[in-house]
Amino acid sequence: MKTSGKIAILGAGESGTGAAVLAKKQGFRVWLSDSGKIKEKYINVLSHFEIAFEEGRHTEKEILDSDEVVISPGIPLTSPLVQKIKSKLIPVISEIEFASRYTDARKICITGANGKTTTTLLIYHILKNAGLKVGLAGNVGESFAMQVATNNFDWYVLEISSFQLDSMFEFKADVAILTNITPDHLDRYNYKFENYIDSKFRIAQNQTNEDAFIYCLDDEVSAAEVNKRNLKAQVYTTTLQQGNTNANAYLIENKIHININNNPFTMTLEELALQGKHNVYNSMAASIGTKLLGVRKESIRQSLSAFENVPHRLEFVARIHGIDFINDSKATNVNSAWYALETIESPIIWIAGGMDKGNDYSKLEDLILKKVKAIICLGVDNTKLIETFASKVVSIYETQSADEAVLTAYSIGKKGDTVLLSPACASFDLFEDYEERGNLFKKAVRSL
Ligand code: ADP
Repeated sequence: MKTSGKIAILGAGESGTGAAVLAKKQGFRVWLSDSGKIKEKYINVLSHFEIAFEEGRHTEKEILDSDEVVISPGIPLTSPLVQKIKSKLIPVISEIEFASRYTDARKICITGANGKTTTTLLIYHILKNAGLKVGLAGNVGESFAMQVATNNFDWYVLEISSFQLDSMFEFKADVAILTNITPDHLDRYNYKFENYIDSKFRIAQNQTNEDAFIYCLDDEVSAAEVNKRNLKAQVYTTTLQQGNTNANAYLIENKIHININNNPFTMTLEELALQGKHNVYNSMAASIGTKLLGVRKESIRQSLSAFENVPHRLEFVARIHGIDFINDSKATNVNSAWYALETIESPIIWIAGGMDKGNDYSKLEDLILKKVKAIICLGVDNTKLIETFASKVVSIYETQSADEAVLTAYSIGKKGDTVLLSPACASFDLFEDYEERGNLFKKAVRSL
């Protein structure tokens, strides 16, 4: 393993800063470059570790004389600078790939279009309760690289996005979980769904028959792809089909059955802390993953029933004059909004919109017709939402702030309605990120 030479890092967010610290600790010369402004907390870390960096520009000379470049997931591989680096045959890798070289810890890795963070946090919660020395990293919390630099865990639970996967080559997941695949981020994949699918399946690359690959049988894309691909790992499946004992996790009436190596256990749907169909899948995948690591059935059951929900994912905010307000700001694509709309039983005032990533809203049409009484668009450009639904939903409103959206929803809401923020879009047109969008929504609700 190389531990000298020069590493350039593009992007000084959580992953870039972590990679810089790890590279420095491993004895590399490090140059970190961010074309934007670097957050103060990261500047403090970089200064503390005496790492050379620049912001507001990329000095090509510094980058192109590196032995390897670690790229942050936010930077497209098609950007001219990355193309130039690649044309000089300098390897471009992700922070996860880089960090994995410097740890012997085993890794349980979660990817997919939706449900990654929830499944990741469920697994971390189960493993921690079971007493394992386990770290949580990837897209959640502190970066993997920073933890490899500063901790010594036996296991890592890693949430891995397709952007990270795109620059991963030698990395191997001991347990890989693919939650589902639906079109997302197509703007980064040349608008080709196949490219995005290929990216997701990189989670299984380098796996051997001693490793595990868990996926959802009901997700048609995943199922078709698994059949086409020659996966080396042991394959485990989840389903919500009643009595489908071919799967390793399935339902019989209201009971989840987890069956691995003919050593089954059950729990009722009511016992799960996270409700909603999508969360049954997430809980099933988490159960299989942790059972494979040897966690006791009773411990899995207890952890799944005591789990506290994560903010911005179908998060109940308040009931005001009989109107429920739910913050699902993390629903940044059509499929996750579908699950939110599907889960809610009462008439819905749907706050949606933002930055469109090539969305096809037609998949939501049935649910919208059945459940949604008004749509409140919260985005700079709402044309596509309006064009799709104007003739189908009686009331459509356009708003430009969380306050305005909440006030509009409240003014038309009736007792028994649910106001659901589940945008199906990214947030960057009006907000810094989905967390800011969700927090401003909650603040607006609480000040009604
Ligand atoms: P990710 O990290 O993949 O973006 P999250 O766990 O943060 O996923 O959940 C994002 C949104 O997706 C949630 O608001 C929820 O409504 C929806 N969701 C969660 N799990 C699933 C799933 N298994 N299938 C479809 N949608 C899901």
